[in-house]
Amino acid sequence: MVEFSPDTKVVILTGAGISAESGIKTFRASDGLWENHAIEDVATPYAWERDPELVWNFYQGRRSQLKEVEPNPAHQALVILEQYLGDNLLLVTQNVDDLHSRAGSKNLIHMHGELRILRCEECHETFDMMEKEHLTDQYVPCPSCSNQRLRPHIVWFHEMPFQLPEIYAAVEECDVFMTIGTSGHVYPAAGLIDVAKQSGALCVGVNLDEPMNYELHDEFHQGKAGELLPNLVNEWLS
Ligand code: NAD
Repeated sequence: MVEFSPDTKVVILTGAGISAESGIKTFRASDGLWENHAIEDVATPYAWERDPELVWNFYQGRRSQLKEVEPNPAHQALVILEQYLGDNLLLVTQNVDDLHSRAGSKNLIHMHGELRILRCEECHETFDMMEKEHLTDQYVPCPSCSNQRLRPHIVWFHEMPFQLPEIYAAVEECDVFMTIGTSGHVYPAAGLIDVAKQSGALCVGVNLDEPMNYELHDEFHQGKAGELLPNLVNEWLS
């Protein structure tokens, strides 16, 4: 049973499932397709090299969708937890949507990148670009150099997730490690629970169905995150 004091160190790993009730499709829910596309066609550096137009339009669709969705009670419950734990809570998300930050989470790492941001492969600068003119099927040129084609600031399969040293350091130190809305298929994120277990953390899961690494959880709550988390956070803090 989880017990929190303001000193409890907590790392939470979220995945696509936490945004499902906001209307963003998960990846595994649709037979390994992401919005009708095979991952290798849209989410690898080779796909970007081979068919940039397809990849660009796919991500422009995902980027535009951010304007139509709102954070749900699961995102909001994690903000309440952060208000109690302060810097002792680190939220690590695999999600590329912006719903955690729009809900108000502050101590947040987007380990797989962010849809809002475009990146220059020449000068390596990043730009938050969500105006109407940045969301069309036209490539967006780099404002800082002569490159005519920014890429999505997304960690594609075969690329290295962001801020891994910080993430591992926090997981090795935490008292409680939680997974929420993630299937446990995508590594290295799916392996963080092994590190947490080896360091003696209590591992708690909230997911619609049993994830791949189900047996590593000490406590598991099955159901929709938006329905379960507000009550769980209430219980944990009372
Ligand atoms: P996944 O799609 O592989 O798994 C989602 C998990 O969430 C499943 O186990 C499913 O049972 C569960 N789930 C579905 N609805 C739920 C709900 N309402 N409450 C709780 N659980 C629910 O997702 P993943 O593990 O995050 O891996 C997919 C990869 O695809 C990630 O790298 C991610 O970056 C990317 N992705 C991101 C988004 C997003 O940003 N919202 C959406 C799709 C895919």
